[in-house]
Amino acid sequence: MEKTDILSLDLQELQSALEKMGEKKFRAKQIFQWLHVKRVLDFDKMTDISIQLRECLKENFCINGLFMQKRLASCIDNTVKYLYRLHDGNFVETVLMQYHYGNSLCISTQVGCKMGCRFCASAIAGFVRNLEPSEMLMQIYETEKNSGVKISNLVLMGIGEPLDNFDNVMKFLNILSHKDGNNFSLRHVSLSTCGLVPKIYELAGLKLGLTLCISLHSADNSARSEIMPVNCAYNIDELVKACKYYIAETGRRITFEYAVIDNVNSSDKDADKLADLLRGINCHVNLIPVNKVKERNYRTAKNAVAEFAGRLEKRGINATVRRTLGSDIEAACGQLRRDALK
Ligand code: SAH
Repeated sequence: MEKTDILSLDLQELQSALEKMGEKKFRAKQIFQWLHVKRVLDFDKMTDISIQLRECLKENFCINGLFMQKRLASCIDNTVKYLYRLHDGNFVETVLMQYHYGNSLCISTQVGCKMGCRFCASAIAGFVRNLEPSEMLMQIYETEKNSGVKISNLVLMGIGEPLDNFDNVMKFLNILSHKDGNNFSLRHVSLSTCGLVPKIYELAGLKLGLTLCISLHSADNSARSEIMPVNCAYNIDELVKACKYYIAETGRRITFEYAVIDNVNSSDKDADKLADLLRGINCHVNLIPVNKVKERNYRTAKNAVAEFAGRLEKRGINATVRRTLGSDIEAACGQLRRDALK
């Protein structure tokens, strides 16, 4: 019989698993706290649990570890990038960014990605599988252990499309925010999507309080379809309609991500079109220069981002120019994993 991945069980599931084994329900909370609060990943070290039950746990459950394959620390800022090996030999990337207001962790949600965005290194290496809730949690636990810092903000912006692994991501968030576990506030979580419209409606219904980020990158349908194949399935009109629904339903402001790319989306006309599209929507625009990906020729001219921001602001749209962190350590998602595969 295959053992159950215990870190992927929410408290309720753990309770019913224990009841099925003929154990008392309250034991589940004890074990849940050993795993998620004390972060003890060895049944033998759960000292207030009888040896008999520990043996029983070992027979039925496994605790899948994460192994640090590579750690790259930036010399220019405090960014640290981890390449983690999963129990089956696959790799994922996790990036720790330290700001004056707290520590932010960017985690992966899939091994690879199906979405095929042209400018993204994760897409180049292809899709392998979804991550389990435990594998998302372990990126946090391992990084906190390795770095000695406490994560205050979480961004689901690493490798993978979180809404394409919807159920596991929701379960991960449920375990992470559970009051008997990490009690992590979902107000400090940002989830980024390339625009899987039906899942945006589903997410809105859950009212989790997290910040939804939309990777927009163009306000023009034909330009967006060129760089983001997902736009052929759900175009900009459908996407913006879903965003408006999300805002109305949750009362939360949306962030639009926009990588300014020469000859793709950086002209004055592009900025005007974006301003027209977003006018009146409770949102914020994050502008970034495109991260260089070896296989692609996308570039951002010096000053292009600032100029684009200026043009937007003149048209009443607030935009933040995001700093590129860890530019010396290939912090763009997917680059380390792709190199490890070579
Ligand atoms: N699949 C999700 C989350 C992962 S990508 C999404 O698409 O939102 C995280 C962010 O990085 C997205 O906004 C994505 O569009 C952006 N991104 C990917 N490759 C990039 C690159 N080379 N330069 C700049 N931004 C990039």
